[in-house]
Amino acid sequence: MFPILKEDSLKADVVIVGAGPAGCGAAYDLAATGIRVLLLDRTEFPRMKICAGGLAVKAARALRYPIVPVTQRTICDLSVSCRMRHRKRLKSIDPICHMVERSAFDFFCLKKTVTAGARFEVVNRIDKIVEADQTVSLVTDCGLIRSRFLIGADGVNSRVRQLTDRFPEFRVGFAVEGIVDRVPPKDLSMGFDFSRVNGGYGWVFPKGGHVNVGLYTLKPDVKITRQDLVDYATLRIGGPLPTRITGYHLGMGGWRYRPGIGRVLLAGDAAGLVDPLLGEGLYHAIISGQRAAAAISDALDTGSDAGKSYAKGVVPIQRSLLFSHITSTIFYRLPRIGHLLLTSPMARIPLMKGFARGMPLLDIFLHGYRFWLGFQLAVSSYISGVYQ
Ligand SMILES: Cc1cc2nc3c(=O)[nH]c(=O)nc-3n(C[C@H](O)[C@H](O)[C@H](O)COP(=O)(O)OP(=O)(O)OC[C@H]3O[C@@H](n4cnc5c(N)ncnc54)[C@H](O)[C@@H]3O)c2cc1C
Repeated sequence: MFPILKEDSLKADVVIVGAGPAGCGAAYDLAATGIRVLLLDRTEFPRMKICAGGLAVKAARALRYPIVPVTQRTICDLSVSCRMRHRKRLKSIDPICHMVERSAFDFFCLKKTVTAGARFEVVNRIDKIVEADQTVSLVTDCGLIRSRFLIGADGVNSRVRQLTDRFPEFRVGFAVEGIVDRVPPKDLSMGFDFSRVNGGYGWVFPKGGHVNVGLYTLKPDVKITRQDLVDYATLRIGGPLPTRITGYHLGMGGWRYRPGIGRVLLAGDAAGLVDPLLGEGLYHAIISGQRAAAAISDALDTGSDAGKSYAKGVVPIQRSLLFSHITSTIFYRLPRIGHLLLTSPMARIPLMKGFARGMPLLDIFLHGYRFWLGFQLAVSSYISGVYQ
């Protein structure tokens, strides 16, 4: 009935829509185990992607290959302020973040994924997705593509999510970024200015030959204008004025995502997996892609339900997101108290150590909580011993 894209594309076990970090994360693992993967994107690579390119150490570690060739700068220190005042520097001996340029980084990851055995094709439009007992079919402008499983890794405005009506509770955040075309001064660290925006922050990321500045809010109804960004950049780093100013949404609410039973899984921004506290999405994009791959691989081997396995696989991500959701609600309502806590030795030391070790925020919190609980127990048992 429909023209076919390419004869052997019908042979794909898994079709992945979107060749960003989530799509490549999934495709790499599937291809590496010999599963036939067709990776689709609506554009050729390298392509532009609006993103500040702060790749946390945990995200770099999650990748199956080193990212040295596309790392512009490695960051150890952070500076944080509240409403542009009370600036404090949080130091770490070991790196906490790598600065990358998204177009180069994504192209690099795609090349690694293709080398691992995945096929990449450009598809301009997806009109329909049909799920059957054993297969899932995509009706595209290039023809009909059929596979056994489908991963929607096509970002915040996911067509797969829309067509399959998979996640009605999906919500968005918003960020605007620009480029300040000057070599970052040596003492300029990665900076966050909390509450510069309602429900968010301003950032300054020193890159190879320029500075990336931006404003982020987790609240979809808060407006951020170009002028807001120009004012922030001028106040924060002086001239020249930022150029290439663009805004984009971020996929959120993923702690409510339920993959359900079936052959279609969502990963990354498509599944709302951006951390609401920091607007950080790369780590969850990569690991959700990998967990979707593991669930499908298992389903192909054992006949288990991929949706059910994936639901289990994303539980740690969802716990982490829920924790960030609660923390961000309190933090952005009482930013000065949050900032005081954040910069106190009790929080900043475990936080920086945890970031450098590649730990997610929730794990750092639980680790710190257990440490303090143990410490208090030790002190109280010592005191009770003394007074016995
Ligand atoms: C301004 C801004 C700054 C950010 N800064 C950071 C940061 O510093 N650190 C961090 O960790 N996160 C950051 N994020 C979040 C991060 O960019 C995303 O979370 C991350 O890119 C999600 O990866 P993904 O693979 O899910 O989606 P994407 O990276 O969006 O990839 C989706 C892919 O799908 C393709 N696609 C879309 N629609 C279709 C379709 N219909 N058919 C075929 N292909 C399609 C796209 O072309 C794209 O290649 C930022 C976001 C914004 C907006």
